[in-house]
Amino acid sequence: MALFHSKSAIYPVGYKATRIYWDSINTRKRCIYESWIGEKDGKPWFATSYSTGSIGEITMCGHDVNEGWTELLNNLSNLRAQQRMLKLFPKYLTGENLFGLTAPVVARILESLPNIELCANYKFRFGRSPVLELPLAVNPTGSARSEPHVKHNRKKPHTLISNLISEYYESTGIADAASSIYGKHFVHSKSSQYRRMKLDWRYINHSCNPNCVAEVVNFEKEKKIMIISNRHILSGEELNYDYKFDFEEEGNKIPCLCGALNCRKWMN
Ligand SMILES: [Zn+2]
Repeated sequence: MALFHSKSAIYPVGYKATRIYWDSINTRKRCIYESWIGEKDGKPWFATSYSTGSIGEITMCGHDVNEGWTELLNNLSNLRAQQRMLKLFPKYLTGENLFGLTAPVVARILESLPNIELCANYKFRFGRSPVLELPLAVNPTGSARSEPHVKHNRKKPHTLISNLISEYYESTGIADAASSIYGKHFVHSKSSQYRRMKLDWRYINHSCNPNCVAEVVNFEKEKKIMIISNRHILSGEELNYDYKFDFEEEGNKIPCLCGALNCRKWMN
């Protein structure tokens, strides 16, 4: 892990980026640079391919993120100087910039990757996820499932319901007394309201890439919640839906651990 980041960037294996940048020969043209990061001999491997004029495809690669780029930028800068074009300053451009690794939107995603805290030298720009600040779970066997159940006195709100569903609670009177930072959108799992719910779907987990949707429907003059699949579901697959919580301020955020590729990182 130590080799797969620097102070200013994280180098994820499998990363790919496309950049439209100045052609290395014709200074008035641009071309497409396709960059990717792989792994070779336990070290990161940086490669960039591009196609230029009659020479055809060129690939520059190596263990250094600046591999090929320094030379290419110096050439470009000389060519532009000869043709009295606007000056290029190669010393302010690094391979990390050109790979797009320092772009805020990319850095933000990289900083939310699981186990990213192992990048010890990397300087986090967007702040570490509060999940990283939590103490490590006690599980000496290495698997939470195989640990004996320990009762914690700490109350944690884990049954939070969305606007849509809170409407349903309102209509059934379940949410009348619910009070917390989430107001009527919140029912504590240990509360009497929660027990009164007696609804199987209260156990359904949230996912940012759900296989179900929750809908309130009128059925025999009563409002009912229906959990409807939105894609083919395999036998044994966990059902989940998007809780769609309202967005909250920084301090009230609940980290999302759904593990979906498009996970929004926060549940609210
Ligand atoms: Zn998620």
